Amino acid sequence: MKKYEHLFFDLDHTLWDFDRNSKLTLQKLFGEYNLLDKGIPDFETFYAQYVIHNDRLWDKFRKGFIKRDELRWKRMWLALLDFKIMDTALAHEMGIAYLEILPTQTALVPHAKELLEHCKGRYAMHLITNGFETTQWLKMQYSGIAGYFTEIVTSEKSNSMKPHADIFMYALKASGALANHSLMIGDAIDIDILGGINAGFDTAYYNPHNAPHERKPTYEVRSLAELITIL
Ligand SMILES: [Mg+2]
Repeated sequence: MKKYEHLFFDLDHTLWDFDRNSKLTLQKLFGEYNLLDKGIPDFETFYAQYVIHNDRLWDKFRKGFIKRDELRWKRMWLALLDFKIMDTALAHEMGIAYLEILPTQTALVPHAKELLEHCKGRYAMHLITNGFETTQWLKMQYSGIAGYFTEIVTSEKSNSMKPHADIFMYALKASGALANHSLMIGDAIDIDILGGINAGFDTAYYNPHNAPHERKPTYEVRSLAELITIL
């Protein structure tokens, strides 16, 4: 294996378990807003509807049909509407509360902590994440992984977004790393991996669901535990 000096990690879905943390957040909201008393039979039923609406709205958001604000309250509003709760104010409130609670959740992807612990002292470790400073910092602090990283490069700070080369160049400059001694590790093939390849990094694609693709990452793993054996 090539000797790396710097590891660059993605955060959401690669180290920080976004899906599990999102579900935990919704479970909290379900209790705090007494949705049981409002006529929703149980949390899982509500969650299933939320996921459907969230996915559809994200698709519209990506295509530019709706704005971020609309996505944030409408996913709640539509999920509530499925249970005949017509309450726009509640949907707005839940949309805001969701964003406040989410980054304080602490679930990590399986083996994330072991991997970071294994790499500590062996490599300089950094993050490259498409997100906001405050949100990403809260996630790392609450989940106890902030201390592993030297440079934390967000979209907000670098004024760029993966897969664009600018954010990778910004990260190299900030960390004093060279692309050919660096490995980019992430779960999004067209964001982390494509971006990493184009910026001259070796790449490790974390693909837990074995999603088909046509890119050529340097490594591909189904579990972060496999990376421990590689690195
Ligand atoms: Mg990700």
